[in-house]
Amino acid sequence: MAQINTPQPVRGMQSLLGEEADRFAHVVATFERVRRLFGFRRVEVPVLEPTAVFARSLGETTDVVSKEMYSFEDRSGDNVTLRPEFTAGIARAYLSEGWQQFTPLKVATHGPAFRYERPQKGRFRQFHQLDAEILGAAEPQADVEVLSFADQLLRELGVGGTVVCKLNTLGDPATRSAWRDALHEHFASRRADLSEDSRDRLDRNPVRILDSKAHADWPIVDSAPVIDDFLTAEASDFFAAVTAGLDAAGVTWERAPRLVRGLDYYRHTAFEFVTDALGAQGTVLAGGRYDGLVEQLGGPHTPAIGWAAGIERLSMLIDAPAPDRPTAVLVPLGGPAEQAAIHILADLRRKGIAADMAWRGNMKKRMAKAASAGAGFAIILGDDEVGSGTAQVKNLATGEQRAVAFDGLHAALSA
Ligand code: ATP
Ligand code: MG
Repeated sequence: MAQINTPQPVRGMQSLLGEEADRFAHVVATFERVRRLFGFRRVEVPVLEPTAVFARSLGETTDVVSKEMYSFEDRSGDNVTLRPEFTAGIARAYLSEGWQQFTPLKVATHGPAFRYERPQKGRFRQFHQLDAEILGAAEPQADVEVLSFADQLLRELGVGGTVVCKLNTLGDPATRSAWRDALHEHFASRRADLSEDSRDRLDRNPVRILDSKAHADWPIVDSAPVIDDFLTAEASDFFAAVTAGLDAAGVTWERAPRLVRGLDYYRHTAFEFVTDALGAQGTVLAGGRYDGLVEQLGGPHTPAIGWAAGIERLSMLIDAPAPDRPTAVLVPLGGPAEQAAIHILADLRRKGIAADMAWRGNMKKRMAKAASAGAGFAIILGDDEVGSGTAQVKNLATGEQRAVAFDGLHAALSA
């Protein structure tokens, strides 16, 4: 039992062990494998950035910047923020680290992100994202590439069937501003019925009302004008090229004509992979094209597209992965046998065999430990065995036992 005065975790921040940790690791390992299949280079970016990186990228009026960031002054008085997402920091690095020379740059990463939100199922204050981006590519092929990566990842995680890709275009700037005016008119005419948050957004950014989580707004959102009526020929050609590419790649998608993303930097393609298995936290992976972002940070015009996925949400959807099991557990009895076992253990591990040692309690306890670890074999060593240079290898599934010379153990376990 925790003592009343022992330190507690910060609200909304989790520590994981056992199946939950295994799920998390499985999501990350699958992501790393699929990332390589698609040729996205691994990058690392800081957890802490100047606050301006996020304020300028995401937009001052977004929920993330206005309410959710962990921002503070460091000891030299600089304003810094724990990253609430990856994209802005990657765009910052693209500019400050000379990554522009690698354009078009396909990169991926994962790690913690921080948002001061109300913790609930699938929503934490420290959470973790997988992230994939292509910087410096205006072609619809880049959209198809990031969406295909997302689709294959979700399939390989085994959630392909329960998750739907909802796709929209937000058009080019001309499209977006015409649509924005029409949305403003629509929402202004229903102003009194809107949630307080959305009344707030009305004049600052009416597009964001479409992304509202307040039930009161939903019927008003459902009758809002769709973007299709405002798409320029260029924007609609671009979207047609993206959807044709997705069809060719065998990525299934559903049109969601009122889908917008919470951040200001999106243009053209926007998408969310959604499940109904997680209640209100149903979006597991989301992203889109952000052609204006690098420019917003003071760089050259750099079309780009990417997505982020919540590792915790994906972890909740997958089947529990098989726990790690050692191939063998050494069961020594007596001082000389323990010495020999330490040597054998080191040798097996160096040869790539997952092995462990039971070193507590009597023989019975040690054998029980080998069984509960799920080992394939117990390697039993006593004084006699050390004398003869052989061990008793017991197959824990069949109960069969035989003597194996120390230098034949590796071969016996690999067979
Ligand atoms: P939501 O609508 O659920 O708040 P969002 O639009 O704020 O999501 P994004 O900024 O697109 O989310 O982040 C990408 C993904 O990161 C989300 O789809 C989700 O899986 C995950 N995510 C975002 N915020 C959290 C959080 N507080 N806790 C856990 N996962 C999160
Ligand atoms: Mg959010």
